[in-house]
Amino acid sequence: MSSVQEKKRSSLELYHLKNTLKALEKKHSPNMSTSLISLYIPPGTQLSEIASLLRNEYGTASNIKDKKTGKAVMDAISSILARLPNYKNSDNGLVIFAGITADKNKVEFHAIYPPEKVGIKTYRCEPYFDTKHLRELLDVKDQYGVIAIARGGATFAVIRGSSLKIVMDTDSFVPSKHGRGGQSQGRIERGIEILAEEFFSKMAEQANKIFLEEYPVKFVIVGGPAMTKDQFLQNKNLDYRLKEKIYKVYDVGYTGIAGIREILEKAKNDLVEIDLVKERNLVEKFKKELAVGSNKVTYGEEAVRKALEMAAVDTVLFSEGIEKTHLYIHCKNCDHRFIEVKEHHEPSVYELQIDNIACPKCGETGGLEIEKEEELIDEIERLANETGAKIEVISTDHENGMELLKAFTGIAAILRYPLDL
Ligand SMILES: [Zn+2]
Repeated sequence: MSSVQEKKRSSLELYHLKNTLKALEKKHSPNMSTSLISLYIPPGTQLSEIASLLRNEYGTASNIKDKKTGKAVMDAISSILARLPNYKNSDNGLVIFAGITADKNKVEFHAIYPPEKVGIKTYRCEPYFDTKHLRELLDVKDQYGVIAIARGGATFAVIRGSSLKIVMDTDSFVPSKHGRGGQSQGRIERGIEILAEEFFSKMAEQANKIFLEEYPVKFVIVGGPAMTKDQFLQNKNLDYRLKEKIYKVYDVGYTGIAGIREILEKAKNDLVEIDLVKERNLVEKFKKELAVGSNKVTYGEEAVRKALEMAAVDTVLFSEGIEKTHLYIHCKNCDHRFIEVKEHHEPSVYELQIDNIACPKCGETGGLEIEKEEELIDEIERLANETGAKIEVISTDHENGMELLKAFTGIAAILRYPLDL
């Protein structure tokens, strides 16, 4: 089967995806007619199958009583059918939004390769784009499962942001194998084996429910005594989707909160790749350099831009809490050019009242026009690409992330060499 291979998304890609979603969620159809299409295609589904579904829906749409709505739905379907051959389904599936929106007043088409596997197959026609499932898939990014399992019991925990929550802690009541003897030993041990296997089966089902449904996680780490955890991991009741999410397995002696702690301690170095740990390490490194006054870090939009222009930046730390777009304004009267800042996705005073705003140079009204709009992240990305600097988008879900946003304006840089800015 031809499909797009999934690699781990960078924090920057996820940030762009979040912004796209925010923008899509603000859109609606003209007159709130049910004409915006949301199409969720799970992995493994042939796009030819989707095309024939769409051709059916096209037929249905031609019978819609409100002719205008019917036409809008048909236009949306046509735009998808025309573009579908350019796409492949991916290991995570494909999500498509299309339709005539009130703000553009023409057909918009958005195809998104989701960061996690699409779990539903739906075709919807509504006044809004249905982004709910995609939102859920984005949230999965920050959630991890921990399983401590032994013959004596099991403990399941979820890490979300910087918090750890025990979601299940249970005893098995499977008797210990040791301390018996005599003629019946073999029979008793077989009985105990059956009880243990039943316990693992039950725990496997619990794990499926917890980590696939109740707390869908990015991945799971597992710990337990040597043989025990293997027996659990090989249990036939363990869902293959959960098996695919098992990231690392550790030898630990306990279950309960002590077991979970022991697993996390052992996993410390392997978890460096977890966004949470990586982000925290970056902010900590920035703060440390700042504290010793090494001049190897800087922060604030102006300083970071300047450092980027000097090709002095190793890594930009960009807070996902920043939502700035630059409007490049031109005065047709005096040819003056300047930049106005607005929040993402919100129409600014400039866009709404531009004809009533006086040019700061010649003082005339009616001459201002928006020449270009650029999100701050796109400008930073452009500058970073020109000089080979990396960008890490830092979430605001943890303390370090909030610190970056509140105390350091949300944008900072770790430099290649000391610079007095
Ligand atoms: Zn002017």
